[in-house]
Order: sequence, then C-alpha cells, then structure tokens
Amino acid sequence: MGSSNTSGLPSQRLALSRRTLLGASVGAAGLFALRPFAALAATGPRNISFVNLHTGEKLNCCYFEGADYNTGELARIAKVLRDHRSGDVHPIDNRLLDTLHRLRGALETDKPFHVISGYRSPVSNAKMATASKGVAKKSLHMEGMAIDIRVPGVDLMNLQKAAKTLQAGGVGYYGESNFVHVDVGRVRYW
Ligand SMILES: [Zn+2]
Repeated sequence: MGSSNTSGLPSQRLALSRRTLLGASVGAAGLFALRPFAALAATGPRNISFVNLHTGEKLNCCYFEGADYNTGELARIAKVLRDHRSGDVHPIDNRLLDTLHRLRGALETDKPFHVISGYRSPVSNAKMATASKGVAKKSLHMEGMAIDIRVPGVDLMNLQKAAKTLQAGGVGYYGESNFVHVDVGRVRYW
C-alpha cells in the first residue's frame, strides 16, 4: 500500500484526511472497508461463479476475455440462472454480470454468488407477485436484468453497502429472507 506517503501537496493531504474520515465512519458502523473503485477493466478476464440454491447447480466461468463476451459461457450462465419453476431460459443482461463481477471485486471475495432468484418468466413472476407484496409486477427479473443473491461469509449489510457503492442500478435489502436484490435498472434503493 502506498497510502503512508504524507509528504505531498496540500491537495494530497486533504485527500488523505478525507480518506481517513471515510475509513473512520466505515469502522464506526462495524463494516469493513470496501475497495472504493471496483472499476471494470476494458480488457482482461472477468470471472464469475454461481450456486443456484433451487437446483444445486454450480457454475464457475470466465464470461469475458480479451475484449469480448464469450457467448458459450453466457449461454451456460443463462441456463444456471433460468426460471427454476418453468425451466424457461432467458439471456442474462451483460451489464448485470459486469455489476456482479465488480461487486465481488469490491468485496474482495472469490466466493460464488448464492442465487435465490435469477430470471423469472412472466407467468412465474405473476404468481409470485400475487403471493407476496415484495414482488413487483413489472420485475426486472423478467428481463434478465435482476438477481437475488447472498454470498457465503459476507454479512448481508456489507453486501448491500458494496452493491450501492457501485451505483450500477437498483439495490434492495431483504433481511428476513437473507438476500440482496441487485438490478441494472435505475439507480434506486429500498
Ligand atoms: Zn429481486
């Protein structure tokens, strides 16, 4: 780490003290420090891994390499994240995968995402929306743009905080059900 250099210009000192303040407030909240910029490199491998909690299926893959998305791996991801009720497979939005890739970077974990819900067919979503107030009728799950997750060994509040830090879309906290909803729609929190 090069953060011990305090011999810089005033602006650098200011930046340092800001960082210290941020660190202090994060510490006071009982949360570990998150990497502030979980940026996405334009090239290079992007890995992701999932466990589908309904089917038990596991996938660990490199869905982006060089400068391209790997269509074969995207198809495998779509299959693992399919609607487990109907069996319907739908493409998962690349932006959602990139958000999850950044999220695991922010959390500095290589643990798989445990998936409660990935793609939902309109029929499944309508059934769920009827049964539960917490399910939106026009859910982004029906577009392959949303996922409900937890990560083993990661506190749910830390997962929520890290997802919000990315500013990549919606983040919903479901403490009772022990998952965080992440989507690539508008940036909004609940
Ligand atoms: Zn959701």
